[in-house]
Amino acid sequence: MISDLHLKDFVSRPVLEALQLRRMQFILRHAYKHSPFYTKAMDKMGVKPEDLRQLSDLSKFPFTQKTDLRDTYPYGLNAVPQTEIVRIHASSGTTGKPIVVTYTQDDLDIWSETTARCFLMGGCSNEDITVIGYGYSLFTGGMGAHQGMEKIGATVIPMGGGNSEKLCMMIQDLNVTAICCTPSYFIHVMEVAEKIGLDLRTTKLRHGFFGAEPWTDEKRDFIEKNSGIHAHDIFGLSEIMGPGVAGDCECHSGLHIFEDHYYPEIIDPDTGEVLPPGTEGELVLTTLDKMAMPLLRYRTHDISCLHYEKCECGRTLVRMDRIRRRSDDMLIIRGVNLFPSQVESLVMGMPGVVPHYELIVTREHAMDELEIRVEVSPDVIASGEEGQAKLARAIHVKIKQMVGISAKISLAEPGAIARCDGKTKHIIDKRQK
Ligand code: ADP
Ligand code: ZN
Repeated sequence: MISDLHLKDFVSRPVLEALQLRRMQFILRHAYKHSPFYTKAMDKMGVKPEDLRQLSDLSKFPFTQKTDLRDTYPYGLNAVPQTEIVRIHASSGTTGKPIVVTYTQDDLDIWSETTARCFLMGGCSNEDITVIGYGYSLFTGGMGAHQGMEKIGATVIPMGGGNSEKLCMMIQDLNVTAICCTPSYFIHVMEVAEKIGLDLRTTKLRHGFFGAEPWTDEKRDFIEKNSGIHAHDIFGLSEIMGPGVAGDCECHSGLHIFEDHYYPEIIDPDTGEVLPPGTEGELVLTTLDKMAMPLLRYRTHDISCLHYEKCECGRTLVRMDRIRRRSDDMLIIRGVNLFPSQVESLVMGMPGVVPHYELIVTREHAMDELEIRVEVSPDVIASGEEGQAKLARAIHVKIKQMVGISAKISLAEPGAIARCDGKTKHIIDKRQK
């Protein structure tokens, strides 16, 4: 079976917008009627689902915040009886209770469809053999990628994270052509492959679908140059569905959002005002046809920008800029704003620097101090103290010039910075809050 799901990415905008309006009116009615949370929220703002006559009327409706999901834990946002719920996932949530998300069978089908469209967009088909390196757990990554690959008829190997040597063996022995995992985990897989003497270029591996954490164009170049594969970006979040809310096409000019199911807005994070296309702000998403747990105007905290001009690939779906940062992962060091991705862009590509780093923030005598710990290649270690000091100085100067912060730079030996098979945590904030 060859999938023609990708045709949905090319419908004309008036047809797409008519569909979005119908679905939006439906989901507002569904949420208002079946979710006491939304009945209360809409009543409080004095709006009713009937007040939505055009797509832009959505701005009159209430936002949903991450805290609303915590406060209604575990089932408070469900809008269907439990008998219709066939799956539960939960996001990791670093403190306290996790965020629980629920799905009906129809919801799972939509999720499979949009993830499938992501893989088709990246050039995969039923001819591919794919290994899933995202965790199979409460985390949506593993199951989400799995379902999408099955939907396009690809052969799926449900590996999960954690056993990189075996994963390398699978890639080679089973003629694997595609891999889905976090970008940082793939870089670790590349290192393990090298260690065991496997040259990934000699394998059949051609496509990587990397997401679940921010990664830069520089990291993409590093992966593509050193492994010989095409590195695609895949974006999503559990609250909205999981991976496959958006993905990038071969033009790599932003990620196409599957907006027939997930409706995007960009807002000013401080005022909540909707911003015009082409302006950077916080991405807000509305699920247009998710039944178990519809989410209206969900504030993602991800910073992006929407572009409605037709993409060179011919798809009419809006493009969002890659997520480089979240409004809540900004560090403020002595008054200067800094995002981990800025550091990644600046240090990656410097000779001898490998893509593993961490930012350690401390406070001494009321002053914030930033230490940037960057892992380096064996050549740098072999170059002795002088060579290392030279590189550390060069990084210091670059950060100072580009970001305006005087950071302490320490070089870490190969393998010294912890690897993980999920999302990498780049910030260690030791300041007393
Ligand atoms: P958790 O909440 O457990 O971390 P999620 O997978 O739901 O799990 O996390 C979703 C968040 O992960 C997004 O809001 C975004 O910040 C980040 N994310 C997911 N995919 C990407 C991507 N391709 N690029 C950048 N950030 C991403
Ligand atoms: Zn495109």
